[in-house]
Amino acid sequence: MKTSVLGFPRIGKKRELKKALELYWKDNINQTELIEVAKKIKQENWLLQKNSGIDFIASNDFSFYDQVLDTSLMVGCIPERFKTLEHQANELDLYFAMARGYQKNQHDVVAMEMTKWFDTNYHYLVPEFEENQEFTFFSSKVIQEYKEAKELGIATKPVLIGPVTFLHLGKSKHPNFNKLSLLGTLLPVYLSVIEQLCLEGATHIQFDEPCLALAINEEQQQALQFVYTAIATKFPDLITIVTSYFNDYEDNLTTALQLPVKALHLDLIEAPLLLHKVLTHTSFSKNTILSLGVIDGRNIWKNNFETSLQYIEEAKKHLPSENIWISTSCSLLHSPYDLDLEDNNFNIPSDIKNWLAFAKQKIQELTSLQKIIDENQLDILEKNKEALLQKKKSLKIHNPQVKVNTQQKLCIERESPFYVRQQLQKHNLQLPLFPTTTIGSFPQTKEVRKWRADYKKQHISEDTYDELLRKETEATIRFQENIDLDVLVHGEFERNDMVEYFGEKLEGFVFTHFGWVQSYGSRCVKPPIIFGDVYRPEPMTVKWAQYAQSLTQKPVKGMLTGPVTILQWSFIRNDQPKQETCKQIALAIREEVLDLEKAGIQIIQIDEPAIREGLPLRKNQWSSYLQWAIDCFKITASGVQNTTQIHTHMCYSEFNDIISSIAHMDADVITIETSRSHMELLHAFVDFKYPNEIGPGVYDIHSPRVPTSEEIETLLKKAMQVLPHENIWVNPDCGLKTRNWSETKTALENLVNVAKKLRKKTEVLV
Ligand code: GLN
Ligand code: ZN
Repeated sequence: MKTSVLGFPRIGKKRELKKALELYWKDNINQTELIEVAKKIKQENWLLQKNSGIDFIASNDFSFYDQVLDTSLMVGCIPERFKTLEHQANELDLYFAMARGYQKNQHDVVAMEMTKWFDTNYHYLVPEFEENQEFTFFSSKVIQEYKEAKELGIATKPVLIGPVTFLHLGKSKHPNFNKLSLLGTLLPVYLSVIEQLCLEGATHIQFDEPCLALAINEEQQQALQFVYTAIATKFPDLITIVTSYFNDYEDNLTTALQLPVKALHLDLIEAPLLLHKVLTHTSFSKNTILSLGVIDGRNIWKNNFETSLQYIEEAKKHLPSENIWISTSCSLLHSPYDLDLEDNNFNIPSDIKNWLAFAKQKIQELTSLQKIIDENQLDILEKNKEALLQKKKSLKIHNPQVKVNTQQKLCIERESPFYVRQQLQKHNLQLPLFPTTTIGSFPQTKEVRKWRADYKKQHISEDTYDELLRKETEATIRFQENIDLDVLVHGEFERNDMVEYFGEKLEGFVFTHFGWVQSYGSRCVKPPIIFGDVYRPEPMTVKWAQYAQSLTQKPVKGMLTGPVTILQWSFIRNDQPKQETCKQIALAIREEVLDLEKAGIQIIQIDEPAIREGLPLRKNQWSSYLQWAIDCFKITASGVQNTTQIHTHMCYSEFNDIISSIAHMDADVITIETSRSHMELLHAFVDFKYPNEIGPGVYDIHSPRVPTSEEIETLLKKAMQVLPHENIWVNPDCGLKTRNWSETKTALENLVNVAKKLRKKTEVLV
């Protein structure tokens, strides 16, 4: 039985790539040094898999920033605005300019748009297409990587994002333009890439076509047929593997099965019934290799070998063993690197640790399964069964009181409707027209991060740490007063991450030291692991909110992360439905909201940036998800008085198709990310006549570029044209933790000045 891995984490065991990238961007190391770090990571990953005995190891799963951007560069899909830059000559710098924008020597070019990769928390850079887009074989990264592995003696399976998915993910400025019309010019480039790979010796190529997990139209289905027929015709001996993941093929199954490819991948974690459907399907041919994705690429629980073996047994009844591969459900990009790194700390108690598997362990699970099957090594199976049994029985997981609380019936509506609350809040808060605010975090400087690191290592005492944070908070309050923002925040300096912080304060969570997962570019997150029933032993944020409020006459917002986001950005239990876990979190956050209110905080923001990404990939499952997700938000927000203003915040989202659910959330104010899309995302709210207040972001905080006053004014005026003026807030797209103080200062000064200017103009008119 052969083993295959769809892709491996690339940020480095201890985030070496992140560190090198950031040094390179600051000009602290040169390109050769950066490339050297990358090379080491790739080698380590390949050798790890090779030495574990994996048969089909991926290459081109590495990326300096993002695999979709890699694909754009591979096919020469470079937006016009990047073509005049002086570093044109240097491919990697051009690539980073596309990812991050470019502001230097009179050049001022905005980055490409970024959005979520399917229903994960990974973000990709959205390809940009022109009507008469030309493609050329521009970047040969995929070839280089294949050669690099070959030099190590490893014949890899290069991974390409398939052309149909690539087109599907991209975006065109012209609304009526059919992206599939580009296939005619795109396909020849892919054929050249494949040809080159074959010349170098590649025998297997993995084509990721996760558009097959989505509702695609007939034309796209035909396009898939067309593409893979062309490839099969030109390269009859090539082992082509088509993968899709994160979902069942559903109504694309016939299309998938009829593709003239040698191997088809099935994500059996997300779609446990898929194998049976495939094996009994009339279009299924026994000559097709099935790649059985039995190892969960997106969660951290130990594999259930018995279940995996059942799949394999079932497959064996229908096809010869050599046509069965065992694999990861998706790329391990979404898994942390190595559980063994957690060895020398007590963050994860050893019993819980024994329930887990990270990327490296998942590789071993694949080869373990192989050993059970091929060599009948039943002791491995017994050990696995024992670990799972211990987990099931563990008293750590179940808390009877939590179970009682989640059963209780709660009213989840606010006391009065919005229009009543709005008047009361306006009277109470006395904010000017177009109130200015930020989304919560202020720059997490090196110093702030060092204090936290020192505190965690017990190099400084809790008192010292608190004192440092208080000083930073006070300075931030003064800063906000000085530039004259209207609603202040404490700055979130005590938080490493908006989810981890809460997870650490709640019961039912454990944390890793090195469990990093790439979020975008050099940014990583360390998702908490929810292993048991969740509750709040004591207040989590009240101290900081209260302290910040004590420093100023202006209102300070209390800042919380919402339950859906905590759920979505954690590794979640696989032994109870998601919504059950979410409700437990919601009840804990509700208690916090009420405590903040009691402490005199009049504005409370409950961030839910992840609501949209939690949407199931298929629309037929949306309404049940939205029902429980929105209800969970309302559990957190509904207990407060009319005068307490609830904010929520969402980012990187398109809102059109969920706008009515967002309206049901009934937050008094919602702040959203709109600047990168030039207010395009606002249309959903306008068309829907969204009744509550909105802060459309006017500062793209994902780029180091500082927006000019003119740019901010243009954006704000766009919003003013379409929204009732009394409902408009002025704020950045998102939190400022990744920005530095000098960028933040200039940008926010511009923002406040524009708000004041337009406020004055508007008030004169009234
Ligand atoms: N309050 C959080 C912050 O400002 C929100 C971050 C987010 O939306 N991702 O950092
Ligand atoms: Zn945000």
